[in-house]
Amino acid sequence: MIFSNPWYRSFRQRLIDWYSTNHRQLPWRETNNPYHIWVSEIMLQQTQVATVIDYYHRFLKRFPAVESLARAPQEDVLEHWSGLGYYRRARSLHAAAQQIVESLGGEFPNSVEAIQQLHGIGRYTAGAIASFAFDQPAPILEANTIRLFSRIMAITESTRLSSVQNQLWQFAEEILPTGDGSGKLNQAVMELGSLICTPQNPKCQSCPIRKQCRAHELGLEGQIPLVLKKPKAEPLVHVGAVIQDRQGRFLLRQNDSSQWWQDLWDLPWVEIAVRKSLKLDASERHEIEQTFSERLGIRVQVEQQLASVRHAVTKYKVHYFCLRSSLAKGSKLKASTNLGWFSIQELPPVSSRFKKIRLES
Ligand code: SF4
Repeated sequence: MIFSNPWYRSFRQRLIDWYSTNHRQLPWRETNNPYHIWVSEIMLQQTQVATVIDYYHRFLKRFPAVESLARAPQEDVLEHWSGLGYYRRARSLHAAAQQIVESLGGEFPNSVEAIQQLHGIGRYTAGAIASFAFDQPAPILEANTIRLFSRIMAITESTRLSSVQNQLWQFAEEILPTGDGSGKLNQAVMELGSLICTPQNPKCQSCPIRKQCRAHELGLEGQIPLVLKKPKAEPLVHVGAVIQDRQGRFLLRQNDSSQWWQDLWDLPWVEIAVRKSLKLDASERHEIEQTFSERLGIRVQVEQQLASVRHAVTKYKVHYFCLRSSLAKGSKLKASTNLGWFSIQELPPVSSRFKKIRLES
């Protein structure tokens, strides 16, 4: 045990009192439906609360229960995720919904161990669903609670160390009450981390547990948790071919499982050597055309630059150039399910960067 029983009792009491009057009203807090809580938790990974609210309502309006999500075509699921990014989350939700319907008779599991068996659900999300929906005494650890707990214990080492992770998980477990109330307590620690124990300038004077916080006592709240410098983003250059048919429809290609934006549609694109501008001489033009031909089996002629956008993906910053192009003379598209002509009015689910380039028919 890291602290004494009276210490934990007082910690819980202060937190719950604070939470009762200070927490935000969020739609996923007004329910104990595990499916709804699960959808919100997956959306909240890498996305801000304010953005998630609208998506959450829209997604649940279209897929109100786990069965409707399981039965839906993947395209439809991706469509309702469009704009949230990190589409792997939507694919995992869909796959796990099918798992629940096919293997568990549509019944959402209620233990951390069983929830963690579902596709794409890790220890944190399983704990969040088990405690918020079923009030199970399941510990949780995510960005907000890692920061809060490491300050309370004044941990000056990196929170990525496995010894530190173990200490944090142990603390997350020990703060939970023995009877009911684990769900509320977990909500309270997350909310305190999010609203008061913020990454910069924590509001210690308004913090209900400041008397129990070692970092505050030692004046170390600004230095904990230890933030390691992020490595510099690596540059990449992608070239997309803007090809239209006689009716003004665009040729799009569906990204495969080896690519980012898996299953979403985009201009046919290839990666080329990093460069600042795309003023091409004849040999560079030829090289790009060859790359299209070798990598995608599409023989194109590139013409002029139409647009360029910059965006970030994982550790990369991508400069995406779109070139007006045409199919090379005599070249015919092979019958393929991942290539197709689409009008701007009837697009399939497209990547977020495709939306940024604003093509006109
Ligand atoms: S006292 Fe300050 S550093 Fe400590 S938990 Fe509260 S807000 Fe965070």
